[in-house]
Amino acid sequence: MKKLSMKASCLCGCIQFKTNGYHRNIQNCHCIQCMKTHGHYAAYTNVEEQNIKFIKKKTLKWFRSSKRAKRGFCSKCGASIFFKAIGTKNISIAAGMFNRPVKLKTIENIFTKGKLDYYKLDRHIPKFKRYS
Ligand SMILES: [Zn+2]
Repeated sequence: MKKLSMKASCLCGCIQFKTNGYHRNIQNCHCIQCMKTHGHYAAYTNVEEQNIKFIKKKTLKWFRSSKRAKRGFCSKCGASIFFKAIGTKNISIAAGMFNRPVKLKTIENIFTKGKLDYYKLDRHIPKFKRYS
């Protein structure tokens, strides 16, 4: 966990926000749902939802991806931005949305049982079949 303040946006810039407070270091999630929505595994940090301040969010739409979660995306450019577990105070943010410097490290691979066979995991990063 790191206390930071960062800016983020989607590809077209119609969704822009700032984050502050504690950010979890980055988890790469290899579950089938992340694969299907990001086109590859997902790299997510996580913050308390109250620590996101939107500058623009008119094109932000939500997709209920399972009983326990929804995913936020830009309806203009298609960027996959958020993962939100229903009923929690936190939200995951796709790390590629941030402007540099991100100042976070990739600390683990999760849901590696969903990993496809076209890429290799970095051996220096701990891996977990499901959650860490
Ligand atoms: Zn966009």
